[in-house]
Amino acid sequence: MSKEKNVVTLTYGCQMSERDAETLTEITRQEGYNRTDDLEHADLIIVNTCCVRESAENKILGKIGDLKKLKEKNPNLKIAISGCMVQQPGALERLQKRAPHVDIWMGTHNLHEFSELLHRSDTGAKVAEVWQEPHETKESTPLAEKGKLQANVNIMYGCDNFCSYCIVPHVRGRERSRKPEDIIQEIKNLVASGCKEVTLLGQNVNSYGKDFDPPYDFADLLQEVDQIPELLRVRFITSHPKDLSDKLIQTIAKGSKLCEHFHLPLQSGSNSILACMNRQYTREYYLSIVEKIRELLPQATLTTDIIVGFPGETEEDFEQTLLMIGLGHYSQAFTFMYSKRSGTPAASMEEQIPLPVKKQRLQKLMSLQNEESYQLRQRMLGKCYEVLVEGPSKTNPDRLTGRTRGNILVVFDGPQEIIGSLVSLRILEAGSWTLVGELVE
Ligand code: SAH
Ligand code: SF4
Repeated sequence: MSKEKNVVTLTYGCQMSERDAETLTEITRQEGYNRTDDLEHADLIIVNTCCVRESAENKILGKIGDLKKLKEKNPNLKIAISGCMVQQPGALERLQKRAPHVDIWMGTHNLHEFSELLHRSDTGAKVAEVWQEPHETKESTPLAEKGKLQANVNIMYGCDNFCSYCIVPHVRGRERSRKPEDIIQEIKNLVASGCKEVTLLGQNVNSYGKDFDPPYDFADLLQEVDQIPELLRVRFITSHPKDLSDKLIQTIAKGSKLCEHFHLPLQSGSNSILACMNRQYTREYYLSIVEKIRELLPQATLTTDIIVGFPGETEEDFEQTLLMIGLGHYSQAFTFMYSKRSGTPAASMEEQIPLPVKKQRLQKLMSLQNEESYQLRQRMLGKCYEVLVEGPSKTNPDRLTGRTRGNILVVFDGPQEIIGSLVSLRILEAGSWTLVGELVE
């Protein structure tokens, strides 16, 4: 009998990248591989990469370098590198030179080819395939890992927005929406295998279906997903502020499974920086959306992404961003130092901001947001929230964890049998990041 083969998948970056990693892992399962976390005993290691910031790239390059030792110990080990880093124009050659121990290179547009590439590498040959364009029909038949409580579902691919700092449109291609019937069917299949919560993914879900005839938009899709029996919750990311419609807010207000959480990336609070970023909204417009959400959905939570140190950002511009933290009342903000991405317009802008200034601004922004998060959680004390029980807490396996509809994590004591169900919790303790609750009968 042939020996069992093991695969380890390491993935970096956003949820779409995670979703791609799941597809690759599922392909290897069909090829007879068992999924493990044990690098030492792996027969195949997949590194699914991200290139959104230089820090991500450096970390991944370090990891790929480390894998060389494993390959020296076990020459039969196959190493496959996939994803956005490989897809960057001109990157493949540079990466191949830097990491000759890698067996398979592939971009973001040819995931469906993975089993073929694996077989091609059986002879020991080095294999590299990066497509310039996506393959429409192949990407609309994705594979998903079965039996998970929560799953990510792509509703669209790519991005047409070309924010001046961002590499994503260059490595993920133009925006294209999946057909509603394919999405609904995928979710029904997931639910049949035990999934209770789906997160609908797109770089800008608010422009979903913009080319559909007859018209059918993201709010229409949410209404349909809300009707799927036995599904308990629906989440979605990301909402570009310029395309968030009143209809969407109203649909969420009317829905039953549609969670009242908006990830609404601000990027900057300064109008001149927003214009240089090509974000296509002003701070006033952004705030008008926040107001609409608060009016119709007072219980909604907001999270955001912010970049500090974009080229030309003055102290005054940065102050405008700080002011937005107090106005947005975010439950969480993902904050980043601007990182030059070659091939994007911002990379060649003058007035690049020195690293120490960026660091200082980041620190200030983070401490302000920590205080905001703390206050927000303090206001939850004594109140009851619906929580989907996810499983044992990572930091304290004797306890359970789950998330509120607003996507805030709560830790609590309870029996294993309630994993996968909705419960009501009263909040007993609150810190900046953690909430402790108790089950309410
Ligand atoms: N499509 C999403 C974002 C995808 S990238 C959206 O538009 O909201 C995730 C986040 O990474 C962005 O929101 C931005 O805050 C950050 N980011 C993207 N490019 C960056 C860069 N060059 N430097 C620093 N942060 C960046
Ligand atoms: Fe990047 Fe802007 Fe597209 Fe988001 S909307 S992926 S930040 S270009």
